[in-house]
Amino acid sequence: MFDEDHLVAISALQHWLYCPRQCALIHVERAWEENKFTAQGRVMHERAHEGPNESRPGIRITRGLPVRSLGLGLSGQCDVVEFHTDGRVVPVEYKRGKPKAHRADEVQLCAQALCLEEMLGGAIEGGCLYYGERRRRTPVNFDHELRDLVTVTASSVRECLTTGTTPPAEYEPRRCDACSLIELCQPRSLRFRRGAAAWFQQRLRAAMATDVNADPGDS
Ligand code: SF4
Repeated sequence: MFDEDHLVAISALQHWLYCPRQCALIHVERAWEENKFTAQGRVMHERAHEGPNESRPGIRITRGLPVRSLGLGLSGQCDVVEFHTDGRVVPVEYKRGKPKAHRADEVQLCAQALCLEEMLGGAIEGGCLYYGERRRRTPVNFDHELRDLVTVTASSVRECLTTGTTPPAEYEPRRCDACSLIELCQPRSLRFRRGAAAWFQQRLRAAMATDVNADPGDS
C-alpha cells in the first residue's frame, strides 16, 4: 500500500503513454506549455466539471469527483461519474479530438475506475470516452489487458518519478508536432546533436583503429 503523500497523478499515466519524455518534463521537471490542443482539452474538462451534480430518472450524475487508490498509488479526478440505480457505476472522461491509435485515454479512464472500485468496494466493468470532434461516446471495456496496462504504466511512471530521470528525445513527427512541449524539448536538435556526436565518435574510432593497425614502418 502507498501512503497519501506518494500518490502518482493519473494524468501522468496518460502523458507517459503519449511520450515518456513528455511525462518526465511535466511531472519531474515541472515544465508546461499550452498549445491549441491542450487549450481545447482544458476547456472541455472545465465544461465537464461545470454545473451542479444532478439526478435524472434512474441515474445520479456527479462531476469533478476526486478519486484515489492506495493499492495502486494513484490519484486524480473524474470528469463525470454516473451512478445508476441498477448498481452500475460508469466513469465518463471528456476529450477533444477523436479516438487515437494509442491507449492513453483508455488507461486514464480505467485508472479512474480502479480508484473508484477501491473506494466503493465493487466491480466496474466499463466506462465511456466522450470525444468532442465526434460528439458522441465511445464505450471502453475494462478487461484484464487494459487493467494490466494501467498497473504496468503506473509502475513505469513511479520509477521515472523516483529516479528523476528524463528520457532522451526521440523525434516522431506525428507525435512531436502536436506536443505542446516541443519548443522546450527540442527533439530535432537533440537528434542532430546525438547524430553529430555519434558521427564524431565513429570517425575517432576509425582513426584510432587505423593508427593501431598501421605498419610502424609507415611513420
Ligand atoms: S516533443 Fe516529442 S519527444 Fe519531446 S516531449 Fe513532446 S512528444 Fe516527447
